[in-house]
Amino acid sequence: MDCLFCKIVSGEIPSTIVYQDEDCVAFRDINPQAPTHVLVIPRQHFASLSEAAQNPALLGHLLSVCAGIAKAEGIAEDGYRVVTNIGTNGAQSVKHLHFHVLGGRKMTEEMA
Ligand code: 5GP
Ligand code: ZN
Repeated sequence: MDCLFCKIVSGEIPSTIVYQDEDCVAFRDINPQAPTHVLVIPRQHFASLSEAAQNPALLGHLLSVCAGIAKAEGIAEDGYRVVTNIGTNGAQSVKHLHFHVLGGRKMTEEMA
């Protein structure tokens, strides 16, 4: 499958990995929108949150990893944001489920 993030999981495309386990990989976003901007993705390909909806244990694990990364990055105390974009209206550009962990600056109050 021609998927950018599957290639990051396999190592075919290099990335700066900050955490990995048997189910997921977390790496720094190539175009960071905040001082800390990490992407948390499942090793298994799901196009988006919608496709992974039948896997609550995996989704819970991914969110738990997001919180652990925030702690490890030192952004947890001041607060941070976890975002996942879904589909066209969600402005999702990479069609492999990923959670953005953003912190190190005050986020805007807009949801968009
Ligand atoms: P989306 O817009 O789909 O929610 O987010 C995709 C994210 O992937 C963007 O923030 C973008 O900067 C990031 N990204 C795209 N290509 C690469 C890449 O090759 N390496 C890394 N580390 N991040 C990427
Ligand atoms: Zn993929």
